[in-house]
Amino acid sequence: MLNSSHPATVAVHAGRAPDPATGAVTPNLVFSTTFARDEQGQLPAGHVYSRTSNPNRAAVETALATLEGGAHGLAFASGQAAAAAIFATLAPGDRVLLPDDLYHGTRYLAKNEFGRWGLRCEFIDFGHLDAVAAALREPARLVWIESPSNPRLKIADLAAVAQLARAAGALVVVDNTWATPILTRPLALGAHVVMHSTTKYLGGHSDLLGGALIVGADAPADLPARLRAWQNLAGAVPAPFDCWLLLRSLSTLPLRVPAQSATAAALADWLAAHPRVERVYYPGLAAHPNHAAAARQMSAFGGMISFEVHGGHDAAKAVAGRVRLITPATSLGGVESLIEHRRPVEGPDSVTPPGLLRLSVGLEHVDDLRADLAQALG
Ligand code: PLP
Repeated sequence: MLNSSHPATVAVHAGRAPDPATGAVTPNLVFSTTFARDEQGQLPAGHVYSRTSNPNRAAVETALATLEGGAHGLAFASGQAAAAAIFATLAPGDRVLLPDDLYHGTRYLAKNEFGRWGLRCEFIDFGHLDAVAAALREPARLVWIESPSNPRLKIADLAAVAQLARAAGALVVVDNTWATPILTRPLALGAHVVMHSTTKYLGGHSDLLGGALIVGADAPADLPARLRAWQNLAGAVPAPFDCWLLLRSLSTLPLRVPAQSATAAALADWLAAHPRVERVYYPGLAAHPNHAAAARQMSAFGGMISFEVHGGHDAAKAVAGRVRLITPATSLGGVESLIEHRRPVEGPDSVTPPGLLRLSVGLEHVDDLRADLAQALG
């Protein structure tokens, strides 16, 4: 029985116990898709079929729920599958508010795909509370928040936005992928549901794809069952091995994220003073427009930095092409640093500045990362 609220302890022990049959300390990997009934037709561990549940998935769902302080955890095959499960609970005509700067996949999923089924999506600036309050004068069914946002690291004041959204009768969902439960606890600040791309920091090693929803205790009573039904019926569930990898990676999350944040903070300071850099987006900088909200709700400012270089598209492309230690690749949250010239990958609707580079800071030494950026910036 886990009796601690310290993330470091929870990350190692939640969802885990030595296997009673073998004594194995680390979890067994259960590949079986189906589970035998006993003579009375009962299922000894409650699992019937792996799309519905599986021991490795159940373990990681418990761990994720405990880490976020939620009542229910649901694991999916990707972050996008987790997001789709939320949109699928809505009805044609429902109004949804989303950030004007959010992960482009979520934008296209909500606007283009669910838009065809009647969702009415509006994109607003969650960095400005006035804009949120104005948008909520009209009823909304869902307020979707991403903080920090991808890629411009806007910070929504989660407690204030959640209060406004709840007063307007909306469900509040926070994509906590970039902050992780180590830095920000959205359920404690008023969210009903936390969403993750576990592909990123929670997986942490760029070797698994996954998503998660963690439902808070005060979410609408029918929501956990509706999401559980969607998870089973739509079937975008993670494979047992990905769940096993994710559970293993969670144990080091409380060490990785603060280390990545400390390196990112040092690099953000250095980039802000670099003559080739036009602008740095990092919530830890005092000049960041939402720095005060970030300081209130984040225990550190995260491992993601975006910055614009002088010279726009061509200059940014050249910098991404010159890095040697940092890898030019999409995705984020792994132990290795990645950089990406963002706008070309975001498609025709992109609102990202042409000269913006997104840097995911890994666990390398800060001096080596700084030296690589210095030579790439020229
Ligand atoms: N949410 C955020 C903030 C992301 O950065 C990403 C991926 O980059 C996703 C969701 C989508 O996650 P996945 O690629 O696991 O589907």
